[in-house]
Amino acid sequence: MIGFIGLGIMGKPMAENLLKAGKELVVFDVVKENVEKLLAKGAKVASSAKEVAQQCSLIIIMVPNSPHVKTVVMGENGILDGAKEGTIVVDMSSIAPAAAQELAKACAKKGVKMLDAPVSGGEPKAIDGTLAVMVGGDKAVFDKVYDTLKLMGASVVYCGDSGAGNTVKLANQVIVALNIAAVSEAFTLSTKAGVDPIKVFDAIKGGLAGSTVMNAKIPMITEGNFNPGFKIDLHIKDLNNALETGHEFGSPLPMTAQVMEMLQTLHADGFGQDDHSAIAKYYEKVSGTKVRKQ
Ligand code: NAD
Repeated sequence: MIGFIGLGIMGKPMAENLLKAGKELVVFDVVKENVEKLLAKGAKVASSAKEVAQQCSLIIIMVPNSPHVKTVVMGENGILDGAKEGTIVVDMSSIAPAAAQELAKACAKKGVKMLDAPVSGGEPKAIDGTLAVMVGGDKAVFDKVYDTLKLMGASVVYCGDSGAGNTVKLANQVIVALNIAAVSEAFTLSTKAGVDPIKVFDAIKGGLAGSTVMNAKIPMITEGNFNPGFKIDLHIKDLNNALETGHEFGSPLPMTAQVMEMLQTLHADGFGQDDHSAIAKYYEKVSGTKVRKQ
């Protein structure tokens, strides 16, 4: 029996892919409607993380950030209140590497093994089961859960000791945020100078400037569709973790800091729950131009 805790935009389709592959699941989320969606697909439901842990030898977590994972693992009625020795916990949320290490240590004290295994690819790849999964922790534990993780991901890569999965994910999030900002800046320029953004996209997507980010986000931006996807507020969380980690290791992140202020502006303007493609809205505000299909 596999436990699955956190059934939001990402967790729901990931859990569904495990069910489709014939795995038996016990699920838990603090939001009742999210649990009911999985119940309808054949999962069993638990009333707490502790109750999940009492029934499962492998537990997957997919919640927003470090404090939520700490509540799920170490909080009252959390996993460590119910887990047997030898239980494996795989946290697939994107959290700070230092928090992942702290959690793994707390688990080890109770004989529970913990991996950090954040993902990239967003909701579409979560639905298709083609996420990129980056894993930190004990290699022998990684080998045990590899086949299960492959049911959710096209690539599952062992990155190193505890925290390494989240360090790689921070690199991913820096690249994605800076890419969206670069694409938004360039498309605002070309739109303001009078060229249809769809023509710009068609002309450059196959060249060196083309990117997965451009292919995913320009159709959304030009339609004015900012439904998440990946929320601005979650990207703020990731860049906070990146800046903190950069400062800890003495690795300056000047461009990340600048994009962070754009995200903070968007949050203050009430766009925190928009998709991160709404970075384009920052440029729309400062330029007075909307990057839309003509
Ligand atoms: P979400 O907000 O849609 O879902 C989070 C879920 O966790 C919610 O259903 C919430 O009710 C549940 N939750 C929160 N605290 C809980 C607790 N204490 N116990 C049980 N359930 C709890 O977020 P999401 O978009 O699914 O993202 C989840 C994680 O995946 C985040 O760390 C995010 O950064 C990462 N991620 C998201 C995307 C994306 O495109 N959405 C892509 C890659 C990685």
